[in-house]
Amino acid sequence: MVIVLEHGIKEQDKNNIRNHLERKGFKIKEIIGEEETIFGAVGIVDIDRREVELLPGVSRVIPISKPYKLASREFKKEDTVITVGPVKLGGQRIVVIAGPCAVESREQVLEAARIVNESGAVMLRGGAYKPRTSPYAFQGLQEKGLEFLKEAGEKYNMPVVSEIVSTEHVALMKNYVDIIQIGARNMQNFELLKKVGALGKPVLLKRGLAATIQDLLMAAEYLIAHGTDNIILCERGIKTFETYTRNTLDLTAIPVVKKLSHLPIIVDPSHGTGIREKVPPMALASIAAGADGITVEVHPDPEKALSDGPQSLYPEQFEKLMRDIEALSPVLGKEIARLPHEPIVKGKAGKIKESSRLKVSFQGTRGAFSEKAMGSYFDTEYEPVPCSEFADVFDSVLKGETRYGILPVENSLSGSIHQNFDLLVQYPDVKIVGEKKIRIVHNLIVLPGTQLADIRRVYSHPQGLAQCAKFLGNYPAWEKVAYYDTAGSVAYIAELKKRENAAIASEEAARVNKLQILKESIETNAQNYTRFIVITREENSGCLNPDKASLVFTTPDKPGALFHVLQILADNEINMHKLESRPIPGKPWEYMFYVDSEIPKDTQVFFDTVELMKKATDYFRILGLYAASPH
Ligand code: PEP
Ligand code: MN
Repeated sequence: MVIVLEHGIKEQDKNNIRNHLERKGFKIKEIIGEEETIFGAVGIVDIDRREVELLPGVSRVIPISKPYKLASREFKKEDTVITVGPVKLGGQRIVVIAGPCAVESREQVLEAARIVNESGAVMLRGGAYKPRTSPYAFQGLQEKGLEFLKEAGEKYNMPVVSEIVSTEHVALMKNYVDIIQIGARNMQNFELLKKVGALGKPVLLKRGLAATIQDLLMAAEYLIAHGTDNIILCERGIKTFETYTRNTLDLTAIPVVKKLSHLPIIVDPSHGTGIREKVPPMALASIAAGADGITVEVHPDPEKALSDGPQSLYPEQFEKLMRDIEALSPVLGKEIARLPHEPIVKGKAGKIKESSRLKVSFQGTRGAFSEKAMGSYFDTEYEPVPCSEFADVFDSVLKGETRYGILPVENSLSGSIHQNFDLLVQYPDVKIVGEKKIRIVHNLIVLPGTQLADIRRVYSHPQGLAQCAKFLGNYPAWEKVAYYDTAGSVAYIAELKKRENAAIASEEAARVNKLQILKESIETNAQNYTRFIVITREENSGCLNPDKASLVFTTPDKPGALFHVLQILADNEINMHKLESRPIPGKPWEYMFYVDSEIPKDTQVFFDTVELMKKATDYFRILGLYAASPH
């Protein structure tokens, strides 16, 4: 049964409830969830629910109807997200685990790791103890194999996964692997489940060859009951009457498990099909069906593989699959998990003071308004890294190529830049750590020595041209040419080297392209400001004393749902700056709400308010806590 505790329960009451239930013979597990704190009480004890409901501090008691308790969605509403080194699995990420079926030699696993890492896998797999159908088949390199696997994982900063086949190996395996795999053949080896569970390490639990989904969840229950919460379920195909494929990959298990359990589920299309050509389509289908990731066998030279060669992908096939997954993920509102190139450096919180190697990405060419915003935000040396698309700025931050990215989110005249709001939701491992508002001043930029009378043509972004309409109205003979960005139009006229061309852009764009400003501040409305946000990878330190928060949420589809959420802000006297709705990709006519709010001096009030908002919403995320830019 699940005992939901009252918000702000006294420690004394909490202990009383725990003691009361333990005396009755229950095992208690406390979960401090995003929305509420609960006690999960499991055991074969008959108790009248009302007896618990009457204890001080108990908000409500919910019986769990399923035989698996701790693994059930009834026990925990939110998806479990598992952190393994630099990788998070679950939520909105697609995690790709890849590597050979078996570790065959040091060279082979190092080469496999290099290949899969280069294509974008974030974890390395490789069996050292192989449960083979034939006793005459290769049984694995055992401890040596684990050593080689660990070395390869460390070289590429990838956590490693390997299968355990016996309780005797528990102590040994824990020193070598980050995730312990329990294979299909051992899914119901209960002694093994108990021992591995007690280790507390993350476990990749594969579905048995003839196991029902309920059997799989019961096996997970064993692991949780004995000590590990970090379980990744894996659908890898079951035995059916079909013989064309090695197993029948039961993709139905994904939505079923998602409904029944809070645990993440990945798919193994390699063992699920047994045929190389069938692996990429089933990998994509798994992701489309809602899997949190895949585990795939990839071999540097599959013809020479000592086990499962026919189902192992060639390196080129894996590279292509990764590109396809990258293209598919945003359609599902998800993002492919990436490894940072360098281990994350936990810097000092607050003011950003970095070495001269600090890199900041922005969209556009040198001299873009984003670069100007960057200049006024960072008070230290940095290297601006231009990117062609907004999504590239997110990618460079996620991969660790740059520590920060800067992006425009709103213009005081033309409104929100929606694409960046959508990207913030799609990249759960990126957060906002700062903002900067700058005034947009447009200038007429020309080749040195040019006079107004020489000009025949003006290039700029359509917004730039539109924002200078009054000035341009004085020169009706000039041809107005739309260009993809303001700073880029300056670089373009610099390249054309003709005095008949002018461009409209920032002062910086004139400076970096060594051109001249013929007329300053030609924008029609001088009250033209753009707000930029500074993003970084989730693990990096944030702002020390934030006074502004950006939040995103979805509400239940019922009358007054949004009103109710805003009421919570009002009741707690939290000032809201902005409210905006955006369509949810893939859910026509459903909307996400973005809120910017103040963080009061007493930050506890803010965090308590957030807890209440979480209860009133279906999905809730803090996009970032930061210091507001003045005016
Ligand atoms: C494996 O992943 O190498 C393996 C043997 O898988 P399964 O247990 O699913 O057969
Ligand atoms: Mn295999």
